[in-house]
Amino acid sequence: MKLSYIKLMASFLISTSLFMAPTISLAEKAEICGLCGTEITAGSNLFELQFKDGSTQTYGCPACGLTMMKSPEVISAKTMDFLSRKMLDAKKAYYLKDTDVGYCCEPHWLSFDSKENAEKFAKGFGGEVLSYQQAIQAKSFHEEHTH
Ligand SMILES: [Zn+2]
Repeated sequence: MKLSYIKLMASFLISTSLFMAPTISLAEKAEICGLCGTEITAGSNLFELQFKDGSTQTYGCPACGLTMMKSPEVISAKTMDFLSRKMLDAKKAYYLKDTDVGYCCEPHWLSFDSKENAEKFAKGFGGEVLSYQQAIQAKSFHEEHTH
């Protein structure tokens, strides 16, 4: 009795998610990265900025979001832990620069809630693990070529 109930619930959940997936993830969440314009997908490592005027903007990867951090209008930033999909304070995250995995623009950048997880991921898919400060510096160094 209990088992058949679980089976019923499982098949219900599977059919519901199959039914709902196209409408929710494609129609409602047809968002694009606020910098490069790449479509945001379920795999995107989101990065969110909040501005002085109260508005927010979502980016499809930490690389795009960190680039926009230079704006004096930014008051706070959140990035996604790529593994758990949870948002966290961008300053507390660890960044993986130039890894093989990514769903926005190249070079691919991801972010993690711990240095340990970023390093584990880098062992499999490559990339350079950076702290927030190092990540900000890496972005400005590459784009402005300051000497
Ligand atoms: Zn982007």
